[in-house]
Amino acid sequence: MVHVTRIVIIGGGPGGYEAALVAAQLGAEVTVVDRDGLGGAAVLTDCVPSKTLIATAEVMTGFDASYQELGIRLACDRPEGEGGERAISVDLGKVNRRVKRLAIAQSHDITQSVTRAGVTVLRGKGRLGSGGQAADGSREVLVEAVGGSTQSLRADAVLVASGVHPREAPDARPDGERILNWKQVYDLEELPRELIVVGSGVTGAEFAGAYQALGSKVTLVSSRDRVLPGEDPDAAEVLEEVFRRRGMNVMSRLRAESAKRVGDRVEVTLSDGRVITGTHCLIAIGAIPNTAGMGLEEAGVKLNDWGQIVVDRVSRTSAPGVYAAGDCTGVFMLASVAAMQGRIAMYHALGDAVQPLNLKTIASNIFTDPEIATVGYTAADVSCGKMDAVEIKLPLRGNPRAKMQGIRDGFVKLFCRPGTGIVVGGVVVAPRASELIHSISLAVDNNLTVEQVAGAFTVYPSLSGSTAEAARQLHIRKRAESES
Ligand SMILES: Cc1cc2nc3c(=O)[nH]c(=O)nc-3n(C[C@H](O)[C@H](O)[C@H](O)COP(=O)(O)OP(=O)(O)OC[C@H]3O[C@@H](n4cnc5c(N)ncnc54)[C@H](O)[C@@H]3O)c2cc1C
Repeated sequence: MVHVTRIVIIGGGPGGYEAALVAAQLGAEVTVVDRDGLGGAAVLTDCVPSKTLIATAEVMTGFDASYQELGIRLACDRPEGEGGERAISVDLGKVNRRVKRLAIAQSHDITQSVTRAGVTVLRGKGRLGSGGQAADGSREVLVEAVGGSTQSLRADAVLVASGVHPREAPDARPDGERILNWKQVYDLEELPRELIVVGSGVTGAEFAGAYQALGSKVTLVSSRDRVLPGEDPDAAEVLEEVFRRRGMNVMSRLRAESAKRVGDRVEVTLSDGRVITGTHCLIAIGAIPNTAGMGLEEAGVKLNDWGQIVVDRVSRTSAPGVYAAGDCTGVFMLASVAAMQGRIAMYHALGDAVQPLNLKTIASNIFTDPEIATVGYTAADVSCGKMDAVEIKLPLRGNPRAKMQGIRDGFVKLFCRPGTGIVVGGVVVAPRASELIHSISLAVDNNLTVEQVAGAFTVYPSLSGSTAEAARQLHIRKRAESES
């Protein structure tokens, strides 16, 4: 008799549903248990909704930033700065209805493709049973349905991909109306007139930039010296300068001690005792893994001090037969990484060829305006001696296409090994940097040299010409150094 491996996946976000598709293709009997809907937080409340909102913001900033310079005049208004109001405005209720419609449609598409692949989808909360591993190596997974009934499943391998939820401070609890977390903003019908964003990490910066573009007066409270701590410092500097130039109030080295409703306003008390007020406050101070109450530690799954599941590079946890993927592992909180970890787990569990996760080739992007895209080794890796590399930074100001398009902010940065010239990392700060980073990703992934990157044709005029030019200059510098 042919033995079919039973896989149970807890969590249907990118970590879970991508794994389910792979496992089904490899012939396993697969069940996905999800509490909220397939696609997970990535599709329903986080990644997809925020990027859909930003799509509107992007059009507005792009228009604001260049229409006068490009010679565009509006029939209805005199442009801002010539005695007129801002030429365009947003209907946030309409934007948010579009956001939710797209998110639900994408969740529906994912559910269809997963069920078409033969995967069973159960709506409910999953947790590991208390019985541990049976003699045949299988485990019990308990599924609590919405009505309260509990179903027991047996699994030869379990994948936990349960994601995270927004962190809350005890004195700044979101009320869903004026004090909000990032999942609640899509219920707003009116644009916040004055928005205080607490937290200047990726989520805080993306929302602060987006709402400013939509027309809110934004104050960004950052506990660090600069926005985007942990990201490339030159990129963070460009973004902060752009934010300030567009009128954002960026408050650095300050914590928000509390946020409370006072009538129709929100009062935020800062660590230096000052109180700032706005009509709304968005709290973006990090995320907590969804790992409590799932029977994980009882089953021998090791969690770290932050409650994240400890995994190796093929997504194994410390409990045999239990794998974990995605944000709940804290490895690199991106949808693409979650999906890769989930697929790797299934290749490993089902005995297929498996390439361990390589964090050094991950490309990521911050969807601000300008966007900030990064791949490979970073400036921090070079300065702490983790990687011996030389770097070049080429401002976009000198790029012909950038001049034609009225783009002033941004740069291309490349890191290469000093002897061989192999490209080991890069940063692009530009409109649509998320698309421009791909050529550098290819170089990093395939150990291409700066000569090879410089030698490939780029379109004239194009922003990607700056990537080739940066590689050319590194090549020339490398030659000069080797000849001296
Ligand atoms: C505002 C914001 C914007 C982002 N933008 C991007 C972006 O542009 N690009 C990018 O790559 N990443 C982005 N991310 C990160 C991305 O959303 C996550 O990396 C991704 O969602 C991780 O996928 P996951 O499968 O680990 O978890 P999730 O997508 O969170 O899915 C987990 C699922 O598990 C379910 N679940 C939890 N516990 C249980 C349980 N006990 N039983 C059953 N089901 C359970 C949840 O309901 C959820 O459906 C963003 C994050 C935020 C907060």
